[in-house]
Amino acid sequence: MGIELAVRPYQRRFVKPLHTAHGLWTWREGLLIRLRDSLGRVGYGEIAPIPWFGSETLEDALTFCNAQSKDWQVETVPDALPATQFGVGCALAELVEENSAGYEPAMPADSFANADICGLLPAGEAALDIASQRLAQGHRTLKWKIGVHAIADEIGRLERLMENLPNHVQLRLDANGGLSISQAEQWLTACDRINAEPQTAAIEHLEQPLPPNQLAAMQEMGRRYQTAIALDESVATLTQLEDCWAKGWRGVFVVKPAIAGSPQRLQAFCQTHRPRLVFSSAFETPVGRRAALSLATRCAPTSAPALGFGTQGWFADNWDTLPPAELWDRL
Ligand SMILES: [Mg+2]
Repeated sequence: MGIELAVRPYQRRFVKPLHTAHGLWTWREGLLIRLRDSLGRVGYGEIAPIPWFGSETLEDALTFCNAQSKDWQVETVPDALPATQFGVGCALAELVEENSAGYEPAMPADSFANADICGLLPAGEAALDIASQRLAQGHRTLKWKIGVHAIADEIGRLERLMENLPNHVQLRLDANGGLSISQAEQWLTACDRINAEPQTAAIEHLEQPLPPNQLAAMQEMGRRYQTAIALDESVATLTQLEDCWAKGWRGVFVVKPAIAGSPQRLQAFCQTHRPRLVFSSAFETPVGRRAALSLATRCAPTSAPALGFGTQGWFADNWDTLPPAELWDRL
């Protein structure tokens, strides 16, 4: 049975360009795909690459899609194209599920309350003001970028921030791999001290303190400090996640499903190993977001950590309100 693959590129402008390790990010570019079989069943998927985070480029993905003939047999998408694997895997699952008995639509993205989603704080002093806004919006987990200003100033701000947070709140610190070993040790010492006080809010984890090539040093810190360490940049793809697991990492993994690879393989890995996962956004459209959140609910245990999907309202468009077919028609 042949399957037709159609592809439509998109571009979305961030309301405010994002600061990334790779410079300013102004436009989010990606592809929507639509699979259609000979019975007329359709499934939508999204390919949302982040090449500077370890996925293929948009051009690689587009070249692959355009090379598939009309009578495509859904060959395996190569591991070198993880965002494409995700988009095709999700579209195929939707196509197969569409007419089958007992099909339940994927959970809509807006069915998650802010209580389940991690709210983002800006780097620096502004975090202290924004934190109260995020709590008023219902978030119970917050994330703060660190490693941007002088470490003594940042740790001072952390202490003031923690004094002001209610004690049911959890804070994630994200260093984006930018700390030295001695700086990471200072942060973990401060986190352990704060977490030892039962009256204050807790630091849930320190995310990617060191660059990806320093896994052994992070494992060693994981043994010496109580505060959890999470890998993010180290595990952009499922192949990298499997590799870190094989090397013995049993801390937290941050997973961006949209660039991790095959959703079916990620789900199988979770069922086999039960890793500690935090699911996170890759700034997808609602097509990829819905598929990623649905995968998160299938992979995660019931008391899963908050989802890193606090990204709605970041784009200068109304796409987040559109069903997949409508968004497809607009492109
Ligand atoms: Mg991170």
